[in-house]
Amino acid sequence: MSFLVLDALEKTYPDGTKAVKDVSLEIEEGEFIVLLGPSGCGKTTTLRMLAGLEMPTGGTILLGNQDQTRLTPSERDVGFVFQFYALYPHMSVSKNIAFPLENMGLVSQEVDRLVSEVSRHVGITEHLHHHPGQLSGGDQQRVALARAMVRRPKMFLMDEPLGTLDADRRLAMREFIREQQIESGITTVYVTHDQEEAMALADRIVVMRGGRIDQFDTPTKVYEHPADPLTAQFVGSPGMNLFTGELVVDGTDRYLRSGDITIDADTKALSDIADGPVTLGLRSEYLIPDAEGTLQAETVLVERLGSHCNVYFDSPVGRLVMRTESDISHRPGDTLKLGYDTQHLRIWAGDYARPPLEVSET
Ligand code: ATP
Repeated sequence: MSFLVLDALEKTYPDGTKAVKDVSLEIEEGEFIVLLGPSGCGKTTTLRMLAGLEMPTGGTILLGNQDQTRLTPSERDVGFVFQFYALYPHMSVSKNIAFPLENMGLVSQEVDRLVSEVSRHVGITEHLHHHPGQLSGGDQQRVALARAMVRRPKMFLMDEPLGTLDADRRLAMREFIREQQIESGITTVYVTHDQEEAMALADRIVVMRGGRIDQFDTPTKVYEHPADPLTAQFVGSPGMNLFTGELVVDGTDRYLRSGDITIDADTKALSDIADGPVTLGLRSEYLIPDAEGTLQAETVLVERLGSHCNVYFDSPVGRLVMRTESDISHRPGDTLKLGYDTQHLRIWAGDYARPPLEVSET
C-alpha cells in the first residue's frame, strides 16, 4: 500500500460549499507532491484535512497504513509550514525552534543538540538569539522550516510558504526547500497556485479544479500532455496556444479543419476522437517559421526576453505565440508561414471556448 492514501475525500462546509469532492490519491514515501490550481479549487482545504485542522465530511486518509481521518493535529506526526511564518514574536529564534521539542518533553541537552543541528542545516545559526521581527522574510521562513523539520515528522505540509517573499528570495527558498526535502527524504505535500513553482518542485503534480483532481502526473507529463485545455493554458509561460476546430470524417478520411484551413495532424492521433468540434493546442516552442507551413501569420509583437523571444502573431486560427531561442528580426506587420511537428499537436474533443454548463453543486 502507498505511504499516503486519500480515498474519496470530501469536504462540505456548514454553509453548503463543496470545497473538496471525491479526491483520491496514492502518494509514495519520499515524494514531493504539489497541489496546483487556481484560487478556490480546494488546495488549502485538502491540505488542512491532511493536517487535521479540518475534518473531512467523507472519505479516509491513511498515512503509513494508519487511519488518520479523525485524528487531531497533535495526534498526527506531521510538520506544517504556512505562508505566514506563524512564529512566536516574543520568543527568540532558538526558543521558537525548540518549542515543539519541549512540548514532546525532551531533556534540555537533547533539545539544544537538535536545535543547533537543524539551524546549521537551514543556515540560521547566527540568528538563534534574535527575535523573528529582527529577521528578513526569507530568514523567518527558514526558521519556520527549521521548526517544522526539527522533529523529523513523517510528512511535511506546506501551504504557499513562499507567498510573502519577493521574487529573488522566492527562487532561493524554492531551491533550498527542495534540497532539504531531497536530503531528508520526508514526504511533502505543498500547495501553490504558481505553476512555475509547481513544475520546479514536484515529483508529481496534482492539478485541481472545482474541488476535484483534474490530473495527477509528473511535471513533464502535465506540461506535454495536459489533461484538458484549461490545464494546457494554466501550465507553462506562456500557456499553450489553443484554438478550436472540427474533426471531419469523409468516408475513410479523417482530418482536422479550423475555419477554412486544414490543420496538419498525425492520423493516428485522430483515430480515437469522434467527429465534431475539437480544441487544438500547440506549445509556443513547437511553432517554427516554415515556408511550407499552413498557418499564415502576421507579426503583432516581439518580446525580447534575453534568453529567448516570444513572438505574437495574428493567424486564421487566432492569436498565436511562438518562442524562439534566437533573436528574430521580425517587425510588427511582417507576414510569414508557421509550421510544427504534428507529434506536438494536442487534440481534445469539444470546444473549450464553449464548455458544457456545469450544474452548481453549492
Ligand atoms: P486559495 O489559493 O485562494 O487559498 P484554494 O484552492 O486553497 O484557494 P480553498 O481555500 O480550499 O481553495 O477553498 C475552496 C472553496 O471552499 C472556496 O470556494 C472557498 O471559498 C471555500 N471555503 C474555504 N473555507 C471555507 C469555510 N470555512 N467555509 C465555507 N467555505 C469555505
